[in-house]
Order: sequence, then C-alpha cells, then structure tokens
Amino acid sequence: MLQINQLKLAVEHSEAELKRKIEKELALKRIFKDTLNFSYKILRKSIDARRKPDVLFIYTILVDFNDETIEKKILIKCNNKNVSIYNPTIFKPYYNINHCCDKSPVIVGEGPCGLFAGLILAYAGLKPIIIERGDRVAERVKKVEKFWQTGKIDDNTNVQYGEGGAGTFSDGKLNTLVKDKTGKNQYVLDTFVKFGAKEECAYDAKPHVGTDILETVVKNIREEIEAYGGNVLNLHKMTDIVIDDGKISGIVVENLNNDEQDRSVIINTEDVILAIGHSARDTFDLLYSKGIQISQKNFAVGIRIQHSQKMIDDSQYGKGHSEKLPPSPYKVTNHTTNGRDVFSFCMCPGGYVVNASSKNGCTCINGMSYEDRSSGNANSALIVAIDRQDFNSDHPLAGVYLQEKLEKKTYEIGNGKIPVQLFGDYEKGVLSSSYNSVEPKFKGDTAFANLQEIFPKEINEAIIESINKFGYTIEGFDDKDSIIAAVESRTSSPIRINRDENFESNIKGLYPAGEGAGYAGGIMSAAMDGIKVAEAVIRKYEND
Ligand SMILES: Cc1cc2nc3c(=O)[nH]c(=O)nc-3n(C[C@H](O)[C@H](O)[C@H](O)COP(=O)(O)OP(=O)(O)OC[C@H]3O[C@@H](n4cnc5c(N)ncnc54)[C@H](O)[C@@H]3O)c2cc1C
Repeated sequence: MLQINQLKLAVEHSEAELKRKIEKELALKRIFKDTLNFSYKILRKSIDARRKPDVLFIYTILVDFNDETIEKKILIKCNNKNVSIYNPTIFKPYYNINHCCDKSPVIVGEGPCGLFAGLILAYAGLKPIIIERGDRVAERVKKVEKFWQTGKIDDNTNVQYGEGGAGTFSDGKLNTLVKDKTGKNQYVLDTFVKFGAKEECAYDAKPHVGTDILETVVKNIREEIEAYGGNVLNLHKMTDIVIDDGKISGIVVENLNNDEQDRSVIINTEDVILAIGHSARDTFDLLYSKGIQISQKNFAVGIRIQHSQKMIDDSQYGKGHSEKLPPSPYKVTNHTTNGRDVFSFCMCPGGYVVNASSKNGCTCINGMSYEDRSSGNANSALIVAIDRQDFNSDHPLAGVYLQEKLEKKTYEIGNGKIPVQLFGDYEKGVLSSSYNSVEPKFKGDTAFANLQEIFPKEINEAIIESINKFGYTIEGFDDKDSIIAAVESRTSSPIRINRDENFESNIKGLYPAGEGAGYAGGIMSAAMDGIKVAEAVIRKYEND
C-alpha cells in the first residue's frame, strides 16, 4: 500500500475532489492509460490556518491498489517525495499467554491508566481485579450532575473519582506530546473508536471525544475486560497495603456498597498497579506512611478564562472562515517580566468551566465539553509553573499541601461556589457585580469574588501581564468582559512515586503508574503508561 503525505485541500472540498487529488499526486493518468481502481483511507487530518481565512485541510492518505507490483511502479514513476510505501508500527497486545500467575494482579483506579492496564492484562489471560472507589459511570454521571446542582460533594464519586477516572468529565482531548515508536498511541485511539468514539478520533490531529460519548466508551471497555475474565469492583476503596519482606502480598479494600461495621477485606496478590490519579490525596498519605518512596514534582496553578468561541474562531481562522471548521483551539505562552512562565492548558473549544472538586472545603475547577462542542464559549486554563521553591518545604507531599491551601482559600472566597470575576475587575482587584458581553458557561454554582486573594502577588501579576500580552496574538483575548474563574490546581500530579526500570516501586510488586504517580499528563499518556506497566507484569509471568 502507498502513503501520501501533505495532501492539501480547501476546507470546502468534496469527496470527489479528494479522489481526484490522490490520482494527481500519484500521476495515475500519466503512468496508466486505463483508470485504475483503488481504495483509500485517511491516516491523518490536520488544519492549516496560516493563510486565513483560506484554511486548508492537510491529509495523510493510505492508498490500496491491492497489487504490490503496480504500487512499486507508481512509487517510482510518480516521482513525488510525498509518496512512500506504507510501513506502520502496529502495537499488538499479548493474547492468552501461557503463564504461571496464580494470584490475579490488582489494579487500583479505573481511569484511563487502570482501564488500559486492565484491558491488556485481561487479553493476556491474567484475570485482573480492578478496584475503583467511585461508582459505575452511569451512576456517576447522575451524582456529578447532582453535585453541580446542589454543591453537595460525594467523597468517592465526583469529577475526579469514579469509573473512567478524571478524564470522564472532560474535553476528551486525545492528543499527547509523548513520542511513541511502539504504536501504542494509535492503539489507544483505535481502542477508543472500537468502543464508541467517532472514527475521526483515529486520524484527527486533534482528536476529541465528548463527555456524553466517553460515558459509553468507558462502560464498553469495562465490559470487554470482564468478558476476558477481569473483575471490576466499583465503590471499593483501597485503604491499606500489605507488605511482607519488602514485597507486596495484598491490599486492604473497603467495600463502600456495604453498610456493615467491618466492610474491609484483604485481597491477596503479588502485583498491584497503582493507577490512582493526581487527586488521590488520602492514598498518597497512606503510601507515604508505609514508606513508599515519593518525591516532589513540579506542577502549575492558575485561573480559567472564558471568551466567546466566535471571537476565537475569527481570530484563529480569519473572519468569513468556512462554517465547516470545528470550534478552534488556541495555545498561548508567555515568559513574564517577573520571571514566571504562564501558558494555556487544557483549552476547551465550545466547552464549560466545571467545578471539579473532590473534597469538602476545597474548590478547584477544570474544563469539559460535549461531543458537539456547542456551548458557544471557549475556555482555557492560564497557569503559572510552580516549582520546589514555591513549596517552602522539603516534604515529599508539600506540593499537595500547597494545592490544598489554594483550594481552601478558593472555597472560602467563593463560599463553596466557583469564585468568578471579569478580567477588568481582576486587574484592579475589585469585585464584579454582573457579567457583560461574555455569557457565562459553568457547571456548578458561581459567586463573584476577588480572585487576587487566592494567589501571591507575583502570580496575579504574571497572569494579568500575560492576558494583556495574549491580546496581541488573539484579538479580544484581553477583553475586560472576559470571565475569569479559579482555582485551576489539578493540572498534573504534585508528586512522583519512584519506580525502577521494571516499573516497580521500592516495594517489589507495587507498580506506580499513570498521572497520579507522576508518569503521565492527560488521557492518552495515562493510557499508554497503563499498557507499559501491564506489559511489565505480563513479562514477569510469561512462561518461556
Ligand atoms: C475536568 C477534567 C478535564 C480534563 N480534560 C482532559 C482532556 O481533555 N484531555 C486529556 O488528555 N486530559 C484531560 N484531563 C486529565 C485526565 O483526565 C487525566 O490526565 C487522566 O484521567 C489521568 O488518568 P489516570 O488513569 O492516571 O488517573 P484518573 O483518571 O485520575 O483515575 C484514577 C482513579 O483512581 C481512583 N482511586 C484513587 N484512589 C483510590 C483508592 N484508594 N482506591 C480505589 N480507587 C482509587 C479514583 O477514584 C480515579 O477514578 C482532564 C481532567 C479533568 C478533571
């Protein structure tokens, strides 16, 4: 099969125009007298808005003539540097390996990392047990909607905790900066499509799967794990680990479904994958108290800003751009005069700003969107890099404590609601009294407050300076009516749980993985890390 790179077409192009362009790139009319039959498939599609508003789609196309001789002839005769033989790296999971594992491996956490680790271990025939403190996704959606309406938080089932993990109520951006030579990236994308995400997710340069679709995808992946002999226990929380002679020998699990006095059981196992996410503070405390080696890790904190999506589209695609274009993302970054780095993070086109809190007395926010990204607003976190100097302590969990301090302050000034302010008032440090030209799009109640009270002076200055600077890159970005909310604090894990080349911690058989352990940032990299760690467990048991 042949691969054509850099195939450019106007956004409004038809299917027939794409086919004609393929024929032209391969010089078929020049090389062959008769018309040749071929099939083709999109391998990659991206947007090129450098000549706005004449925006282009750039394709990588796979063309199949079902005849290697013809393909070789075309490759030579078309003399086109963008044409090559298709030679992909395809990731294949182990299937039903012959193994000597008599105790099921246990995965703690059913986020992207835990789900993909579970899938790979199940396919291999190791009958994994997944422990998840939160409810199953259908119930979870109801509980989160209730939280957004009432502000009453469920300690175990919320935006951070529950089946599908933190990524379920999200913008479902499926892109990552992780360089992958193993084909795992494409495998994760294809798996999302196999279990319900739209086909474009397999080839879009910026794939996205809305929260309304993620609910189905997560359920289908869980059912696949169970179909291959896995066992998923929701509303089961790991409350302790059992260590014998430097090795893991079991975990203590509390069954939250059960109202009886003693609802804890011990699950004996020699392999525990810790896929607990960046918000598992009580479990971080437990692991630290058990002597698991943990180190501080840099992260970032800040605010989330909202603009009208139309303003962003006009700026990114040019006024009068095609309506065929999806709501536009943006990426901005600034090194401030006071030496801070401020950058946009988890930008949500056509999304909502959500109350993403997971603990009473602490308020944090994030962004999410539905499949159609039709809220009419664009929002993004604008965050400032935080490092050990800001922690004011050498304690491995100091970053967690700093997050909590900011979130408690946020809870206080918002009175348990999401504190909001117009940019113009934030600049002046005065309260807003009403919204103006930008319509608010939130999930969860809001309250006007002065957000400057949350952060140290230099952080506020860095954010304000950067918003004004971004107004030069994106027209209207610094509009005084832009809506600001806080606090964006769960940007990545504030800790790293140390692991060696076998992915094991200082306790043998305990495998820290995913975002919480500090080895991933986002849905894709968490899923890929879950696969890597599962493969390490499989290699341990695979009989020669
Ligand atoms: C609102 C929001 C929007 C986001 N948007 C995006 C996006 O668009 N794109 C993107 O790439 N990333 C996004 N992210 C980040 C992404 O969700 C995470 O990077 C990803 O989910 C990390 O996966 P994980 O499996 O490592 O951990 P999580 O997904 O955090 O999963 C960890 C799971 O472990 C469970 N757990 C923790 N402790 C215990 C215990 N003691 N016992 C049992 N279970 C336990 C938790 O309940 C949780 O379900 C978003 C996050 C949020 C909150």
